Amino acid sequence: MDRIGETVLEIHLDALAHNYNYLKSKLLPETKFMAVVKAFAYGSDMVTIAKKMENLGADYFAVAYVKEGVLLREAGITTPILVLHPLPVNFEQLIAHQLEPSLYSPKILTEFLKTAQENNLEDYPVHIKFNTGLNRLGFWENDVDHISKQLQNRNEIKVTAILSHLAASEDPNEKKFSDTQIETFKKISAALDEKLGYRPFRHVLNTSGIINYPDAQFEMVRSGIGLYGYGNSADEDVHLRPVAQLKTIISQLHKIEPGETVGYNRAFSANTPRISATLPLGHADGIGRQYGHGKGHVLVKGQKAPIIGNVCMDMIMVDVTGIDCAEGDEALVFGAEHSADTFASSGQTISYEILTAISQRIRRIIK
Ligand SMILES: *Cc1c(COP(=O)(O)O)cnc(C)c1O
Repeated sequence: MDRIGETVLEIHLDALAHNYNYLKSKLLPETKFMAVVKAFAYGSDMVTIAKKMENLGADYFAVAYVKEGVLLREAGITTPILVLHPLPVNFEQLIAHQLEPSLYSPKILTEFLKTAQENNLEDYPVHIKFNTGLNRLGFWENDVDHISKQLQNRNEIKVTAILSHLAASEDPNEKKFSDTQIETFKKISAALDEKLGYRPFRHVLNTSGIINYPDAQFEMVRSGIGLYGYGNSADEDVHLRPVAQLKTIISQLHKIEPGETVGYNRAFSANTPRISATLPLGHADGIGRQYGHGKGHVLVKGQKAPIIGNVCMDMIMVDVTGIDCAEGDEALVFGAEHSADTFASSGQTISYEILTAISQRIRRIIK
């Protein structure tokens, strides 16, 4: 086995392909697939993931901010890219890189139209986002008139698509709410089509939406977490494979005698003789302090080693008492045998947060 020698985030592209094929199997053949690669492709490696997804045949990419789209274009990505949360200060850059904005408010629409006019754009593709219950970003249902009036007799922009976002697509207890969001979206879509005189395509579903609301796939779906191997439920997780695996090594072992303590503020105190292992990653790498005090664990030789005491900035200490291990041996923080979802739960959070928190100083290894 290759020795990793330091903390690494392995990116498994075969797992990405597997997850993509699994998600595609839930869709009609004609449904377009938007791969969500914001936040460094959920903490992995945005350019590598996007290139692989482009090869696999993704129809669209989504990023949150203009800067992320620019990085993709500079890396040679030619597939359409939607920017979910563009800000006016970056509109010039967005246009220069052929990125498609999600326009989500009257103010953003006015500002984009102004920039579009200044740049002599014609039929520039935009997506209009409607708020159907998440109350985060989006026009309201009763903004349809306003939007169509703004667009009347102007040709700077063309509404390529309209979108909305479900608030609780993973939660079966919120099925009624999600169904209502979908119905509202259909109404908005019909009203806007009529006013515009043409039919933009539509997208609403995220990963859990693809799983739970297959009738609402419209013309395109947007998937992030599923591509990276997590489905927000144990039933789905068995069909998916984690793309990112966070591995580290044991820097040093210590024998801790009863009455001795480990780490800052002496937060771990030994009652019996223990062996602690120091690992080279800490809260600056995304392993938050909530994983300390025995809450989270890593695997050493396949066995659970709890994180003891306080998480430091650059290190954690784990209890390896009874595990036959040596300095230089590997530890798995999360990956195939210890999922990021399980690890995240031990720190009262979700896979999305731990994945995107992994610091950029950790080396990525593409597998
Ligand atoms: C992040 C995001 C997605 C992807 O959601 P997943 O649950 O990761 O599939 C889809 N749509 C919007 C608007 C998003 O912000």
